[in-house]
Amino acid sequence: MTKMITRFAPSPTGNLHIGSARTALINFICKSKHEDSKLYLRIEDTDRERSKEEFQNNILSGLQWLGIDWDNEPQIQSQNINRHLEIANKLLDNDKAFKCICSEEDLNERRRKINSGVITSKKICTSCAKNTKVQSLEKDYVIRIKIPIENKEILKDVVQGTVEVNKSEIDDYVLVRRDGTPTYMLSVVVDDHDLGVNFIIRGADHLNNYFRQKFIYEYMNWKIPSYAHIPLIHGEDGSKLSKRHGAVNLIDLKKQGYLPEAIINNLILLGWSPKKNDDELIQLTNIITLFNIKDLSKSASIFSYKKLDYFNNYYLRQEQNLELFINYCKSNLDLKKYIEKDEKKLIRIFNIYKKDISKYQEMVNISEIYFNSNFDVLKNEIFDQEFNNCFKNFLDLINSIKNWEYDIINSEIKGFLKKNNLKFPILGKPIRFLLTNNYNGPSITDIFVILGKEQSIKRLNKYKV
Ligand code: GLU
Repeated sequence: MTKMITRFAPSPTGNLHIGSARTALINFICKSKHEDSKLYLRIEDTDRERSKEEFQNNILSGLQWLGIDWDNEPQIQSQNINRHLEIANKLLDNDKAFKCICSEEDLNERRRKINSGVITSKKICTSCAKNTKVQSLEKDYVIRIKIPIENKEILKDVVQGTVEVNKSEIDDYVLVRRDGTPTYMLSVVVDDHDLGVNFIIRGADHLNNYFRQKFIYEYMNWKIPSYAHIPLIHGEDGSKLSKRHGAVNLIDLKKQGYLPEAIINNLILLGWSPKKNDDELIQLTNIITLFNIKDLSKSASIFSYKKLDYFNNYYLRQEQNLELFINYCKSNLDLKKYIEKDEKKLIRIFNIYKKDISKYQEMVNISEIYFNSNFDVLKNEIFDQEFNNCFKNFLDLINSIKNWEYDIINSEIKGFLKKNNLKFPILGKPIRFLLTNNYNGPSITDIFVILGKEQSIKRLNKYKV
């Protein structure tokens, strides 16, 4: 196979959205299948007003965190403006573009007529191209591309299949604005061509742009790349995935304590599945081997936070990922305090609770219970008489344990239950509540071990029968 030159081209007008991260991921997977292939990163900052450095930083750190790397330095689109303008002028010289001086009011009026069906052609300006005076102006014009009206355009998209559009539907869009700056539509094609990009993988929201952008390639006699327009992802209510559904900024997911492996696993299964393999758990190296973009479904997929939680719980439980938890603690204000105070204790709490949590952030409230030296029971609970009858003896027993170790505490408790002919919940539930303010949770032996003897007794002593 010829080497694949691909690119990810985000606009720094917002944070890295999980949907864009998926586009980047698929680009990365496709390029990683072949050693000689390349993935370039281009920051498309032609919208000077909305582009912000903070968004650019967010995008770069989001990609890095996910483990997506790219070849060369990121390209900054605004640094290539002269080259974009050079191409616009070539198109003008070759009669493939024209100068237009239509006022905003005239254009709006025409847009209204087009939208209401009074005019069937999508051409927004029908007079300037023929006006020699306008064409000889030196300034105060926009440059529009010329697109013929006859026939139709066909795209054989790797994901969307064959897509047809009548040329009359394609507008003579602007290449250079009145202030002399190039538009995204021009810059994207010039930069992709100059980088040698031969495969464009991007969101299906850009499908219509293919039918516009291909004319620049054609007029310049440039080879048109292959295209894969990947479907957008939706929330569980079927609408485009947005903040309403949950965190969509990749860095917010990182802050909540999701792992890159879980996010990658979740994202790649949207519209694709590894054949002959029922197991949904799949990691990057296997994905790279098995993934073929041709197998990606063209319909929108549903992003489920529940599923993400499921994957995250699986990955955070893995012994080899403990290091990731420790790193997370160092980056989280609350957990940082705990890890500095007693790292072993925090890790013990994590190891006991990890099967029940879906993200690291949940460890903040859980750890608080164990690190709080002024712990108080929430309510004055009324416990069973049977419990009250034996509580004093149980407290004495706990007090008498010399070696505060799991096995010893556990066998003492078992012996106590047997001797007093008690069912475990009668003793265990209230004790768990007195120690953690929760009737449910880990075994009371685990809780005793985490808290240590002194803190355990201090908490139990607060209960007055
Ligand atoms: N900059 C565009 C965006 O962020 C992507 C352009 C493209 O992939 O062609 O939506």
